[in-house]
Amino acid sequence: MQTKIGASDTVCARRAGYLLHGRKPTDGGEKRKAILGTWLHEGMLTAARQKFGWIVERCVEDESIRGHIDAVQLDSATAAKLPKRLRPSLPAEETTVEDVKTKSPYQWDNILRYGASEAEVRQVLLYADLLRSNGFADIEGQRQLARLGAVNVGRMRFRFVNRDTGDEHVQEMAYSAERARGARWWVQQVRSAETPEELPRTFQGPGLSAVCDHCPFRTACWGPVVAGRRPQSILIHDDADREQALAEYVEISAQMKPLKDRQKVLRAMLDGSEPGVYGDNVLSWSGGNASKVDDVDAMVALYERAGLEVPTAPDVAAMKAQLKAADLPVPVRLDPDRRTSVSINVTLRKKP
Ligand code: SF4
Repeated sequence: MQTKIGASDTVCARRAGYLLHGRKPTDGGEKRKAILGTWLHEGMLTAARQKFGWIVERCVEDESIRGHIDAVQLDSATAAKLPKRLRPSLPAEETTVEDVKTKSPYQWDNILRYGASEAEVRQVLLYADLLRSNGFADIEGQRQLARLGAVNVGRMRFRFVNRDTGDEHVQEMAYSAERARGARWWVQQVRSAETPEELPRTFQGPGLSAVCDHCPFRTACWGPVVAGRRPQSILIHDDADREQALAEYVEISAQMKPLKDRQKVLRAMLDGSEPGVYGDNVLSWSGGNASKVDDVDAMVALYERAGLEVPTAPDVAAMKAQLKAADLPVPVRLDPDRRTSVSINVTLRKKP
């Protein structure tokens, strides 16, 4: 059993509970994104340390939480207490805790519009709060930093990096003692639960939340996959639950209807508009290409070349199945009369 919660594990209450209670992960996950993220982190933080003398990858802890801070930029008064070789070349106006987050292009527009999630803010609040109460952990490799004692963090900074383009987006916020108390309370709730199952699922489950899709406890949390049923169906236990969910579904649909109707009108109004930057938003279009359809003539030619018997009355489904079984590609051609649907894409304009 773990006795301390990792600040970076405070994303989901239920998951933090599984970790704290020493439960074995039930699922593997896609590791490539995490590995790529780790490489980017390492490169950026090494550069920040070498170029600006930032304090990177340092531990903080108390009796209930531990954490690994990406970077701390000390103010000049605090930096002056350190030996010269450890001082930053560029002190901050106020001591700042920085967290680097790598994001996929799909998440990028959300990051630009809405910034850090609640869970991401909670994690950095905990780092800042640990530094403000206990300072750096007194462990090998950071004794000099530990001697600073409590560090008066004034600011928190998120540096988001787009994994595809390398674009950066920086979001800063002042440290808030009140919000930090909220984050501590969250940790306390997780610690006081007798079992992980008592804790709420912070996310909506596989298929609806990318966090759950990659969670190592998704089977423990949502049960085994049942063909033809979504994982969330376990949340309905009886007809009373069904009645309540249905009533809420109807109510929400009614609330959404006027918005959806207005969205359809706006979409129709924008039809044919040139792609480009309009105010804060960038308009682009995708789709509208010729649809792919089965190319029966090419299939017959391929059959003949492969020495397969061509059915006298072409049976497309059977031919496709046979081609697939023979490990041959199913030919398609573009049908100029059938088009894929045209989708509108609106993203936040990149600030110069
Ligand atoms: S599957 Fe989702 S809700 Fe469940 S523990 Fe993992 S992150 Fe939390």
